[in-house]
Amino acid sequence: MGNLENNRIFFDNASTTRIDDRAYREMLPLFKKHYGNPSSFHSFGEIPEEKMEKARMSVASLIGAEKDEIYFTSCATESNNTALWGIARAHRDKGRHIITSAIEHYSILNPLKEMQREGWEVTLLPVDKYGIVDPHDVKKAIKKNTVLISIMHANNEIGTIQHIKDISDLAKQAGVVMHSDCAATAGIIPLGVNALGIDCCSFSAQQMYGPKGAAAIYLKKGIKMRPIIIGGVQERGRRAGTENVPAIAGFGKACSIAKLEMEDNIKAITVLRDMLTEGILKNIKKVKLNGHPEKRLPGNVHVSFEYIEGESITLLLNSQGVAVSSGSSCASAALKTSHVLNAIGLSPAIANGSILFSLGKYNTEAEIKKTLEVLPSIIEKLRKMSPLS
Ligand code: PMP
Repeated sequence: MGNLENNRIFFDNASTTRIDDRAYREMLPLFKKHYGNPSSFHSFGEIPEEKMEKARMSVASLIGAEKDEIYFTSCATESNNTALWGIARAHRDKGRHIITSAIEHYSILNPLKEMQREGWEVTLLPVDKYGIVDPHDVKKAIKKNTVLISIMHANNEIGTIQHIKDISDLAKQAGVVMHSDCAATAGIIPLGVNALGIDCCSFSAQQMYGPKGAAAIYLKKGIKMRPIIIGGVQERGRRAGTENVPAIAGFGKACSIAKLEMEDNIKAITVLRDMLTEGILKNIKKVKLNGHPEKRLPGNVHVSFEYIEGESITLLLNSQGVAVSSGSSCASAALKTSHVLNAIGLSPAIANGSILFSLGKYNTEAEIKKTLEVLPSIIEKLRKMSPLS
Protein backbone atom coordinates (compact mmCIF):
# COMPACT_ATOMS: atom_id res chain seq x y z
CA MET A 1 0.00 0.00 0.00
CA GLY A 2 1.39 3.41 -0.98
CA ASN A 3 0.74 6.81 0.43
CA LEU A 4 -1.77 7.53 -2.33
CA GLU A 5 -4.62 7.64 0.17
CA ASN A 6 -7.51 10.01 -0.50
CA ASN A 7 -5.40 11.06 -3.51
CA ARG A 8 -2.76 12.55 -1.22
CA ILE A 9 0.92 11.90 -1.76
CA PHE A 10 3.42 12.22 1.09
CA PHE A 11 6.89 13.30 -0.04
CA ASP A 12 7.94 14.77 3.32
CA ASN A 13 9.58 11.75 4.92
CA ALA A 14 12.50 13.89 6.16
CA SER A 15 10.11 15.61 8.56
CA THR A 16 8.46 12.41 9.74
CA THR A 17 7.44 8.97 8.50
CA ARG A 18 4.21 7.03 8.74
CA ILE A 19 4.54 4.38 11.41
CA ASP A 20 4.96 0.82 10.17
CA ASP A 21 1.88 -1.25 11.14
CA ARG A 22 4.11 -3.82 12.83
CA ALA A 23 5.68 -1.17 15.07
CA TYR A 24 2.23 0.26 15.81
CA ARG A 25 0.89 -3.14 16.89
CA GLU A 26 3.88 -3.65 19.17
CA MET A 27 2.89 -0.52 21.09
CA LEU A 28 -0.80 -1.19 21.70
CA PRO A 29 -0.72 -3.61 24.67
CA LEU A 30 1.57 -1.22 26.53
CA PHE A 31 -1.06 1.52 26.82
CA LYS A 32 -3.82 -0.27 28.74
CA LYS A 33 -2.91 -3.90 29.40
CA HIS A 34 0.71 -3.55 30.49
CA TYR A 35 0.67 0.03 31.69
CA GLY A 36 2.99 -0.46 34.68
CA ASN A 37 6.06 1.62 35.34
CA PRO A 38 9.16 -0.28 34.19
CA SER A 39 10.99 0.83 37.35
CA SER A 40 8.39 -0.81 39.68
CA PHE A 41 9.44 -3.86 41.65
CA HIS A 42 5.92 -5.36 41.63
CA SER A 43 4.49 -7.50 38.88
CA PHE A 44 2.96 -4.59 36.89
CA GLY A 45 6.45 -3.39 36.04
CA GLU A 46 7.67 -6.73 34.68
CA ILE A 47 6.33 -6.76 31.12
CA PRO A 48 6.99 -3.02 30.49
CA GLU A 49 10.57 -3.52 31.71
CA GLU A 50 10.99 -6.63 29.53
CA LYS A 51 9.62 -4.83 26.46
CA MET A 52 11.87 -1.85 27.05
CA GLU A 53 14.99 -4.00 27.35
CA LYS A 54 14.02 -5.99 24.25
CA ALA A 55 13.69 -2.67 22.41
CA ARG A 56 17.09 -1.53 23.71
CA MET A 57 18.57 -4.71 22.24
CA SER A 58 16.97 -4.07 18.82
CA VAL A 59 18.05 -0.42 18.77
CA ALA A 60 21.63 -1.41 19.71
CA SER A 61 21.68 -4.16 17.11
CA LEU A 62 20.60 -1.81 14.29
CA ILE A 63 23.73 0.32 14.79
CA GLY A 64 26.15 -2.40 15.93
CA ALA A 65 26.30 -1.19 19.53
CA GLU A 66 26.08 -2.98 22.87
CA LYS A 67 22.71 -2.94 24.62
CA ASP A 68 23.98 -0.90 27.56
CA GLU A 69 25.43 1.76 25.27
CA ILE A 70 21.87 2.87 24.36
CA TYR A 71 19.97 5.50 26.38
CA PHE A 72 16.37 6.35 25.53
CA THR A 73 15.21 9.96 25.17
CA SER A 74 12.08 11.62 23.77
CA CYS A 75 13.32 13.01 20.43
CA ALA A 76 16.45 13.59 18.38
CA THR A 77 16.52 17.20 19.61
CA GLU A 78 16.79 15.96 23.19
CA SER A 79 19.49 13.46 22.19
CA ASN A 80 21.50 16.19 20.45
CA ASN A 81 21.15 18.60 23.38
CA THR A 82 22.16 15.88 25.82
CA ALA A 83 25.18 14.90 23.75
CA LEU A 84 26.44 18.47 23.44
CA TRP A 85 25.88 19.74 26.98
CA GLY A 86 26.48 16.35 28.59
CA ILE A 87 29.79 15.52 26.90
CA ALA A 88 31.10 19.10 26.98
CA ARG A 89 30.39 19.49 30.70
CA ALA A 90 31.98 16.15 31.52
CA HIS A 91 35.17 17.26 29.76
CA ARG A 92 35.30 20.92 30.80
CA ASP A 93 38.51 20.39 32.78
CA LYS A 94 40.29 19.65 29.51
CA GLY A 95 38.96 22.67 27.62
CA ARG A 96 35.97 24.55 26.31
CA HIS A 97 36.19 24.27 22.51
CA ILE A 98 33.71 22.46 20.25
CA ILE A 99 33.85 21.88 16.49
CA THR A 100 30.76 21.51 14.30
CA SER A 101 29.61 22.36 10.78
CA ALA A 102 27.57 25.22 9.33
CA ILE A 103 24.89 22.85 8.03
CA GLU A 104 23.89 21.07 11.23
CA HIS A 105 20.25 20.85 12.30
CA TYR A 106 19.02 23.63 14.63
CA SER A 107 18.98 21.12 17.49
CA ILE A 108 22.79 21.28 17.28
CA LEU A 109 23.33 24.89 16.19
CA ASN A 110 20.99 26.55 18.68
CA PRO A 111 22.22 24.77 21.83
CA LEU A 112 25.76 25.63 20.69
CA LYS A 113 24.76 29.31 20.45
CA GLU A 114 23.50 29.05 24.01
CA MET A 115 26.76 27.39 25.05
CA GLN A 116 28.73 30.22 23.42
CA ARG A 117 26.83 32.64 25.68
CA GLU A 118 28.07 30.53 28.61
CA GLY A 119 31.67 30.86 27.49
CA TRP A 120 32.19 27.84 25.23
CA GLU A 121 34.14 28.47 22.04
CA VAL A 122 32.54 27.01 18.91
CA THR A 123 34.16 26.56 15.48
CA LEU A 124 31.61 26.34 12.68
CA LEU A 125 33.24 24.58 9.72
CA PRO A 126 32.27 25.53 6.16
CA VAL A 127 31.10 22.99 3.55
CA ASP A 128 31.76 22.77 -0.19
CA LYS A 129 29.12 23.34 -2.88
CA TYR A 130 27.79 19.81 -2.32
CA GLY A 131 27.53 20.24 1.43
CA ILE A 132 30.61 18.17 2.31
CA VAL A 133 32.81 18.99 5.31
CA ASP A 134 36.49 18.70 4.36
CA PRO A 135 38.31 16.52 6.93
CA HIS A 136 41.39 18.76 6.44
CA ASP A 137 39.36 21.65 7.84
CA VAL A 138 38.52 19.51 10.88
CA LYS A 139 42.21 18.73 11.37
CA LYS A 140 43.12 22.42 11.19
CA ALA A 141 40.37 23.35 13.65
CA ILE A 142 41.37 20.87 16.39
CA LYS A 143 43.14 22.61 19.29
CA LYS A 144 44.56 21.51 22.64
CA ASN A 145 41.34 22.58 24.38
CA THR A 146 38.94 20.89 21.90
CA VAL A 147 36.65 18.48 23.75
CA LEU A 148 33.99 17.58 21.18
CA ILE A 149 33.46 17.31 17.42
CA SER A 150 29.85 17.03 16.23
CA ILE A 151 29.22 16.45 12.52
CA MET A 152 25.95 15.09 11.17
CA HIS A 153 25.98 11.78 9.26
CA ALA A 154 23.71 13.08 6.48
CA ASN A 155 22.01 16.40 6.03
CA ASN A 156 18.23 16.32 6.35
CA GLU A 157 17.72 19.05 3.74
CA ILE A 158 20.07 18.38 0.83
CA GLY A 159 20.75 14.73 1.71
CA THR A 160 24.56 14.91 1.54
CA ILE A 161 26.37 12.12 3.40
CA GLN A 162 29.59 13.11 5.20
CA HIS A 163 33.02 11.43 5.40
CA ILE A 164 32.39 10.56 9.05
CA LYS A 165 35.09 7.88 9.33
CA ASP A 166 37.83 10.25 8.11
CA ILE A 167 36.69 12.83 10.66
CA SER A 168 36.36 10.36 13.53
CA ASP A 169 39.91 9.07 12.81
CA LEU A 170 41.18 12.62 13.33
CA ALA A 171 39.14 12.96 16.52
CA LYS A 172 40.59 9.70 17.83
CA GLN A 173 44.18 10.75 17.06
CA ALA A 174 43.59 14.00 18.95
CA GLY A 175 41.77 12.36 21.87
CA VAL A 176 38.59 14.32 21.14
CA VAL A 177 35.09 12.85 21.58
CA MET A 178 33.20 12.46 18.29
CA HIS A 179 29.40 12.83 18.12
CA SER A 180 27.24 12.51 15.01
CA ASP A 181 23.61 13.52 14.52
CA CYS A 182 22.27 10.43 12.74
CA ALA A 183 18.58 11.39 12.77
CA ALA A 184 18.45 11.41 8.98
CA THR A 185 20.27 8.10 8.52
CA ALA A 186 19.45 5.63 11.32
CA GLY A 187 17.23 2.90 9.89
CA ILE A 188 17.50 4.49 6.43
CA ILE A 189 21.08 3.71 5.35
CA PRO A 190 23.71 1.48 7.01
CA LEU A 191 24.98 3.00 10.23
CA GLY A 192 27.58 1.02 12.14
CA VAL A 193 28.98 2.96 15.05
CA ASN A 194 32.25 1.01 14.92
CA ALA A 195 32.58 1.32 11.14
CA LEU A 196 32.01 5.08 11.48
CA GLY A 197 34.33 5.26 14.50
CA ILE A 198 31.99 7.50 16.48
CA ASP A 199 31.75 7.75 20.26
CA CYS A 200 28.21 9.03 20.41
CA CYS A 201 25.24 9.52 18.11
CA SER A 202 21.62 10.67 18.18
CA PHE A 203 18.61 9.33 16.31
CA SER A 204 14.87 8.98 16.67
CA ALA A 205 12.04 6.55 15.88
CA GLN A 206 9.81 8.93 13.99
CA GLN A 207 12.16 9.33 11.02
CA MET A 208 12.42 5.57 10.51
CA TYR A 209 8.78 4.39 10.52
CA GLY A 210 8.53 4.29 14.30
CA PRO A 211 6.38 6.44 16.59
CA LYS A 212 6.96 10.00 17.76
CA GLY A 213 8.14 10.32 21.35
CA ALA A 214 11.03 7.84 21.39
CA ALA A 215 14.65 8.43 20.45
CA ALA A 216 18.10 7.32 21.56
CA ILE A 217 21.64 8.31 22.30
CA TYR A 218 24.39 5.84 21.67
CA LEU A 219 27.27 6.48 24.06
CA LYS A 220 30.33 4.28 23.70
CA LYS A 221 31.35 2.55 26.89
CA GLY A 222 33.90 4.63 28.81
CA ILE A 223 32.92 8.00 27.28
CA LYS A 224 31.92 10.49 29.97
CA MET A 225 28.60 12.36 29.74
CA ARG A 226 26.76 14.35 32.42
CA PRO A 227 22.95 14.12 32.40
CA ILE A 228 20.92 17.20 31.49
CA ILE A 229 17.56 15.87 32.72
CA ILE A 230 18.18 15.07 36.33
CA GLY A 231 15.89 13.27 38.76
CA GLY A 232 15.46 9.54 39.28
CA VAL A 233 17.81 6.81 38.16
CA GLN A 234 16.06 5.82 34.94
CA GLU A 235 18.40 5.10 32.02
CA ARG A 236 21.16 4.42 34.57
CA GLY A 237 21.07 8.01 35.77
CA ARG A 238 21.82 9.50 32.33
CA ARG A 239 18.22 10.55 31.56
CA ALA A 240 15.74 10.77 34.39
CA GLY A 241 11.97 10.52 33.98
CA THR A 242 9.56 7.63 33.44
CA GLU A 243 10.22 6.13 30.04
CA ASN A 244 7.68 6.29 27.21
CA VAL A 245 7.38 2.51 27.11
CA PRO A 246 4.85 2.13 24.26
CA ALA A 247 6.89 4.43 21.99
CA ILE A 248 10.14 2.72 22.99
CA ALA A 249 8.63 -0.69 22.13
CA GLY A 250 7.50 0.69 18.76
CA PHE A 251 11.00 2.13 18.24
CA GLY A 252 12.56 -1.28 18.94
CA LYS A 253 10.27 -2.96 16.43
CA ALA A 254 10.97 -0.25 13.82
CA CYS A 255 14.72 -0.93 14.30
CA SER A 256 14.35 -4.70 13.81
CA ILE A 257 12.28 -4.13 10.69
CA ALA A 258 14.80 -1.60 9.35
CA LYS A 259 17.66 -4.02 9.91
CA LEU A 260 15.93 -6.74 7.89
CA GLU A 261 14.43 -4.60 5.13
CA MET A 262 16.83 -1.67 4.72
CA GLU A 263 18.68 -3.05 1.72
CA ASP A 264 15.46 -3.65 -0.26
CA ASN A 265 14.07 -0.26 0.76
CA ILE A 266 17.23 1.53 -0.38
CA LYS A 267 17.05 -0.16 -3.79
CA ALA A 268 13.37 0.62 -4.32
CA ILE A 269 13.52 4.21 -3.04
CA THR A 270 16.64 4.99 -5.10
CA VAL A 271 14.81 3.92 -8.28
CA LEU A 272 11.93 6.27 -7.46
CA ARG A 273 14.30 9.10 -6.50
CA ASP A 274 16.19 8.83 -9.78
CA MET A 275 12.94 8.68 -11.75
CA LEU A 276 11.71 11.86 -10.07
CA THR A 277 15.04 13.67 -10.42
CA GLU A 278 15.44 12.79 -14.10
CA GLY A 279 11.82 13.69 -14.83
CA ILE A 280 12.23 17.12 -13.23
CA LEU A 281 15.57 17.93 -14.86
CA LYS A 282 14.33 16.75 -18.28
CA ASN A 283 10.96 18.47 -18.34
CA ILE A 284 11.60 21.74 -16.55
CA LYS A 285 14.11 24.43 -17.52
CA LYS A 286 16.29 26.46 -15.15
CA VAL A 287 16.25 23.97 -12.34
CA LYS A 288 19.18 22.67 -10.30
CA LEU A 289 19.61 19.57 -8.15
CA ASN A 290 21.26 20.42 -4.82
CA GLY A 291 23.44 18.18 -2.70
CA HIS A 292 26.00 15.61 -3.82
CA PRO A 293 25.26 13.68 -7.04
CA GLU A 294 26.20 10.32 -5.48
CA LYS A 295 26.86 10.70 -1.78
CA ARG A 296 23.22 11.44 -0.96
CA LEU A 297 20.33 9.86 0.91
CA PRO A 298 18.30 7.41 -1.18
CA GLY A 299 15.06 9.39 -0.84
CA ASN A 300 16.37 12.94 -1.27
CA VAL A 301 15.44 15.15 -4.24
CA HIS A 302 16.25 18.75 -3.33
CA VAL A 303 15.81 21.13 -6.26
CA SER A 304 15.92 24.89 -6.87
CA PHE A 305 13.74 26.51 -9.52
CA GLU A 306 14.83 29.92 -10.78
CA TYR A 307 12.56 32.97 -10.54
CA ILE A 308 9.95 31.52 -8.17
CA GLU A 309 9.45 30.85 -4.48
CA GLY A 310 9.54 27.44 -2.82
CA GLU A 311 6.57 28.31 -0.61
CA SER A 312 4.36 29.01 -3.66
CA ILE A 313 5.39 25.71 -5.27
CA THR A 314 4.66 23.92 -1.99
CA LEU A 315 1.19 25.48 -1.77
CA LEU A 316 0.26 24.67 -5.35
CA LEU A 317 1.58 21.13 -5.08
CA ASN A 318 -0.39 20.76 -1.86
CA SER A 319 -3.55 21.86 -3.65
CA GLN A 320 -2.91 18.96 -6.06
CA GLY A 321 -2.49 16.58 -3.10
CA VAL A 322 1.31 16.43 -3.16
CA ALA A 323 3.01 17.19 0.17
CA VAL A 324 6.59 18.47 -0.08
CA SER A 325 8.70 20.81 2.01
CA SER A 326 10.22 24.15 1.08
CA GLY A 327 12.99 23.73 3.63
CA SER A 328 13.55 21.73 6.79
CA SER A 329 10.25 21.72 8.71
CA CYS A 330 11.91 23.68 11.52
CA ALA A 331 13.16 26.45 9.21
CA SER A 332 10.17 26.57 6.86
CA ALA A 333 7.79 27.62 9.64
CA ALA A 334 10.04 30.64 10.21
CA LEU A 335 10.17 31.42 6.44
CA LYS A 336 13.91 32.03 6.65
CA THR A 337 16.40 31.33 3.88
CA SER A 338 17.89 27.99 4.80
CA HIS A 339 21.29 28.16 6.51
CA VAL A 340 22.19 24.95 4.67
CA LEU A 341 21.58 26.52 1.25
CA ASN A 342 23.51 29.62 2.31
CA ALA A 343 26.40 27.41 3.36
CA ILE A 344 26.58 25.61 -0.02
CA GLY A 345 26.78 29.03 -1.67
CA LEU A 346 23.33 29.35 -3.25
CA SER A 347 22.29 32.97 -3.75
CA PRO A 348 19.17 33.88 -1.73
CA ALA A 349 17.20 34.25 -5.00
CA ILE A 350 17.94 30.65 -6.03
CA ALA A 351 17.74 29.27 -2.48
CA ASN A 352 14.24 30.71 -2.06
CA GLY A 353 13.02 28.72 -5.07
CA SER A 354 13.90 25.39 -3.49
CA ILE A 355 11.77 22.44 -2.55
CA LEU A 356 12.54 19.09 -1.00
CA PHE A 357 10.87 15.86 -2.04
CA SER A 358 11.84 13.30 0.60
CA LEU A 359 10.75 9.83 -0.46
CA GLY A 360 10.13 6.88 1.80
CA LYS A 361 9.27 3.20 1.66
CA TYR A 362 5.54 3.77 1.17
CA ASN A 363 5.93 5.86 -1.98
CA THR A 364 5.13 4.31 -5.34
CA GLU A 365 5.91 4.75 -9.02
CA ALA A 366 2.33 5.95 -9.62
CA GLU A 367 2.94 8.78 -7.16
CA ILE A 368 6.12 9.84 -8.97
CA LYS A 369 4.26 9.80 -12.29
CA LYS A 370 1.40 11.89 -10.94
CA THR A 371 3.87 14.43 -9.52
CA LEU A 372 5.73 14.66 -12.81
CA GLU A 373 2.39 15.31 -14.53
CA VAL A 374 1.40 18.24 -12.32
CA LEU A 375 4.75 19.88 -11.51
CA PRO A 376 5.73 21.40 -14.92
CA SER A 377 2.45 23.32 -15.24
CA ILE A 378 2.75 24.59 -11.64
CA ILE A 379 6.25 25.90 -12.34
CA GLU A 380 5.12 27.47 -15.63
CA LYS A 381 2.14 29.15 -13.98
CA LEU A 382 4.29 30.61 -11.17
CA ARG A 383 6.97 31.79 -13.59
CA LYS A 384 4.37 33.59 -15.69
CA MET A 385 3.31 35.44 -12.54
CA SER A 386 6.87 36.17 -11.43
CA PRO A 387 8.31 39.66 -11.97
CA LEU A 388 11.78 38.03 -12.05
CA SER A 389 11.33 35.73 -15.06
N1 PMP B 1 18.56 16.21 13.41
C1 PMP B 1 18.20 15.96 12.13
C2 PMP B 1 19.25 15.66 11.12
C3 PMP B 1 16.84 15.95 11.79
O1 PMP B 1 16.48 15.69 10.52
C4 PMP B 1 15.88 16.22 12.78
C5 PMP B 1 14.41 16.26 12.43
N2 PMP B 1 14.09 16.92 11.26
C6 PMP B 1 16.32 16.47 14.09
C7 PMP B 1 17.67 16.45 14.36
C8 PMP B 1 15.36 16.80 15.19
O2 PMP B 1 14.44 15.78 15.35
P1 PMP B 1 13.17 15.96 16.32
O3 PMP B 1 12.41 17.15 15.78
O4 PMP B 1 12.44 14.68 16.15
O5 PMP B 1 13.66 16.19 17.66
